[in-house]
Parts: sequence; C-alpha cells; structure tokens
Amino acid sequence: MIERTLVLIKPEGVYRALIGKVITTFEDAGLKIVGIKMVRPDKDLAGKHYAADEEWLTSVGRKTKESAQKKGIEIKESEIEIGNRVRNMLLAHLTSGPVIAIALEGNEAIYVVRKLTGGTEPRSADPSSIRGRYGLDSYEMGDLKGRPVRNVVHASEDAKAAKKELSLWFKDSELVDYHRADEEHIY
Ligand code: ADP
Repeated sequence: MIERTLVLIKPEGVYRALIGKVITTFEDAGLKIVGIKMVRPDKDLAGKHYAADEEWLTSVGRKTKESAQKKGIEIKESEIEIGNRVRNMLLAHLTSGPVIAIALEGNEAIYVVRKLTGGTEPRSADPSSIRGRYGLDSYEMGDLKGRPVRNVVHASEDAKAAKKELSLWFKDSELVDYHRADEEHIY
C-alpha cells in the first residue's frame, strides 16, 4: 500500500553534511520525495512535533531503561521522568539549528523508512542503517552531556504519527504529485 511519511534530518546531520547521503539512501530504496525544505523550527513547532503524550514519554523512558539494564546500569528515574527530561532536550536541540524536512512516498513507506533509519541508539543500531552507519552515540553519552542522542534522523513511528507530523511540517500545497522515471521498474 502506498503511504507517505516524514523524515527530519536533525541539526547534527546538517552540520555534518550528511544531507545528500541520507536522501540517497531513501531514493535508492525507491522512495519518492514528495516534499522537502530546510527549516529552523520554533518552539511551537518542535513542541507539537514532540508532544507531551504520555504513551510516547513512557516509551522513551522504557527504551532508555531497557538499554541501561542490558549494560548493567541502574537508572533511578521513572519512565515518565526520563521521557520528560528527554523531551526538553529534544525541544532545545530541534530549535537550535537547521533541520531538513522530507516527505517520502512509497510502498509501506512508514515501515521501510523506519527500517532504513535503524534503532534509536546509533551504538547498537543495525550497521547498515542510517543511524548505525553515521553514528556511534549512546543513551549514556547523551545523558552525560545533557543532550539528546545524536542519531542524525527522525522518522515517523506509525501511520498516526506520519499523518500528524506531515501536516505539522508541510502545507498540502507543498506536497507534490509526480511520476518518478523508474517507477514501473520498482513496482
Ligand atoms: P525514535 O527517534 O527512534 O523514534 P524515541 O521516539 O524513543 O526514538 O526518542 C526520540 C529521540 O529522543 C531519539 O531519536 C533520540 O534522539 C532521543 N532520545 C531518546 N531517549 C533518549 C535518552 N535516554 N537520552 C537522550 N536522548 C534520547
């Protein structure tokens, strides 16, 4: 099923001049760019993107705790406390510099883009994924330095998030329908 999803190249990806490599990864897989722009997000946009949704805050905390447990590190904060702390760091980070917003279209685009993006923590992300290939950061390093994990890209988690995030970052008129020259060889 053809879907659309949102990718953000976070400030570290722009500063490290990884824009081309990230875009090529998605284009090479057959995904079509239907919207793209560079933005310096304000607090309102960043706050809506990383909304203080209890389920998401808890899931951020849970993933962080699970990773720590595997390394034998004990975290005293509750999942929701971790989630809130990480959210504050994410808002500061996203508003601190340039971000590339990309709307991608393709068969099962949400799943495929998350697969190509890789796990949250570059240190343990699949080495062939964007986060595994272009990073080595960890939760602990992020927490130690008081900043979010530097994992270069954001990708919408599911269909609900993709719909919400696309409408936050793009107006309808900024999303363009066109035919990719190799489409009949991809599908
Ligand atoms: P994903 O981006 O893989 O969907 P999450 O939604 O769980 O992951 O987290 C959002 C972002 O918050 C991550 O991409 C990462 O940059 C950052 N992050 C998550 N957990 C932590 C943490 N414990 N410490 C620092 N940054 C974190």
